[in-house]
Amino acid sequence: MNPVVVVHGGGASCISKDRKERVRQGIAQAATVGYRILQEGGSAVDAVEGAVVALENDPEFNAGCGSVLNVNGEVEMDASIMDGKDLSTGAVSAVRCIANPIKLARLVMEKTPHCFLTDQGAAKFAAAMGIPEIPAEQLVTERSKKHLEKEKLEKGVKKSECQKNLGTVGAVALDCKGNVAYATSTGGIVNKMAGRVGDSPCVGSGGYADNLIGAISTTGHGESILKVNLARLTLFHIEQGKTLEEAADLSLGYMKSRLKGLGGVILVNKTGDWAVKWSSTSMPWAAAKNGKLHSGIDVGETTTTDLP
Ligand code: ASP
Repeated sequence: MNPVVVVHGGGASCISKDRKERVRQGIAQAATVGYRILQEGGSAVDAVEGAVVALENDPEFNAGCGSVLNVNGEVEMDASIMDGKDLSTGAVSAVRCIANPIKLARLVMEKTPHCFLTDQGAAKFAAAMGIPEIPAEQLVTERSKKHLEKEKLEKGVKKSECQKNLGTVGAVALDCKGNVAYATSTGGIVNKMAGRVGDSPCVGSGGYADNLIGAISTTGHGESILKVNLARLTLFHIEQGKTLEEAADLSLGYMKSRLKGLGGVILVNKTGDWAVKWSSTSMPWAAAKNGKLHSGIDVGETTTTDLP
């Protein structure tokens, strides 16, 4: 089986010109990290975790360092991961002061009898697993502070709640043994209430992976994604015989027409086909397969290069 990894950097309403280049580099690097893991015989779970860690560590993205701030100016993060081999899954929500929520989600999957830990319980588990606590400020960037200020100022002049600037990171992969996996990680939505949990840690909404079908990671307006179970809904359409693109168009179209919710998805299936689709203005993405790296940000834009 030829390995595949696809990553996204979140559905967005607009990405400024100067940021685009940094986003492009970050997304390409994450796909390269994931692909290298697969080439060296790593599992799909290893690859999606590795790719998402790279994006969490990159301050350009809304996950880990660079996460958006809640109404109190704090970072609270959500993440989830799933192994398509046996449907095992792990998730954390409202976690603070750790660099890589996706690593904690994987530990929930592999080291507990549960699927989902939150807030204080998740923090205690992180400490017990030896995950270092870092100062809260280490996750906060100048850009995220400005973003919150702007959001608070613009509250009166509201764009639709479902369509404001979004962003999250995710990865899907197929490994040499035919296993698929997904990982999704986010700081959520700017100016959110403290304790708000979005779609990203909720299996079926923020992502899904099943070797019998494929894997998906989603991004976009969390409340809309939760209401339609975007990840599982898309895979359902594939089970019904739709292509990956058709399935994505159907589920994103349903979310938009029913709720005015915008978002994006990345997909890989059990035979190694992959797809990226979004209804937001743009979505940084990259896909690595057969030694080639394909990537883009805006509709109709695809660049292909050889992988290093
Ligand atoms: N889905 C994420 C959330 O609502 C945000 C995003 O994907 O941009 O928490």
